[in-house]
Amino acid sequence: MLNHTMLGELLQDPKFDWEKFKFKAFGLSRYIWLLDQSKQDRMRSCANYLEFKQTVDGELKLHMANLCQTRLCPLCAKRRSNIVYAQLCQITDFLKPHGLKYIHVVLTVRNPVAGDLSPAIDGLLAGFRKLMVHRRVKRAVHGWFRSLEVTKSERKGEYHPHIHLLAAVKPDYFTGAEYIDHAEWVLRWRECMSLDYDPSVRVMKVKGGKPEMILPEIAKYTVKPLDLGRLERLGGVDRPEKVVYDLDYALRGRRLNASGGLIRDARATLRQTDDNLVYANENASSDHLGALYAFRWNRDVGHHVFYRVAEPAVSV
Ligand SMILES: [Zn+2]
Repeated sequence: MLNHTMLGELLQDPKFDWEKFKFKAFGLSRYIWLLDQSKQDRMRSCANYLEFKQTVDGELKLHMANLCQTRLCPLCAKRRSNIVYAQLCQITDFLKPHGLKYIHVVLTVRNPVAGDLSPAIDGLLAGFRKLMVHRRVKRAVHGWFRSLEVTKSERKGEYHPHIHLLAAVKPDYFTGAEYIDHAEWVLRWRECMSLDYDPSVRVMKVKGGKPEMILPEIAKYTVKPLDLGRLERLGGVDRPEKVVYDLDYALRGRRLNASGGLIRDARATLRQTDDNLVYANENASSDHLGALYAFRWNRDVGHHVFYRVAEPAVSV
């Protein structure tokens, strides 16, 4: 257990590698100057201050953090991904009494070049909205969750935006008239996107009815941490500051995740939100013993260091 005498103690949080992601955020911030100075400052000071509460078992639970919430921040992206994963686990558990099965659909289009990334994402999300209200899809899918992912293509100056869809279907979906085979998914997606070619669509049945197997894929980063060293070597249109600028511009103001049907209802019942990167599926005030333990980032040590015991602003 922590106490007042442990000033200077290094943070040990088995649930999150703060140091690793602080360094990643700092590394990326070097290339964000093209955007604006304040964004760079926010990313550099992301998670400089952390407050934990202590449970009866002596475990530390994050209570408050100054997170920058910048879309490309590797630390915030990792927390977002962890929290979405925890939320999806909670949802699929909650929906167990319905006996649903799940499919994972990956919807893609041809890679746009850098300057077309933002309109390409607009088109992708508009096409997705059309797809989800299509008569056949609506009848088959009783709940859904979608995430947007953008990867950097191997080809210079190209990106690969795509959508991961987790769709909940009835237990008899695979043998009934509602079943949508791969060819039909391709056709529906092509129609909804008004494409003159067959787009690449992957459809996977979740094995053994265990959605937790594929939830990490659905909940993973919107943009995985960039390999800055590789981009430095490639240079040109792939130089890090250009890639950071393209991605930040294209993702600005986007809803990274969305849900519908039974999954949206479950999110509402479970009071899940998109914007809280501190809590996963735990109650904010559970296990609270009164005091909060504050840690500050120490650049010289390269670690968060215990700094003080703070009383909570609002007693519970
Ligand atoms: Zn951040």
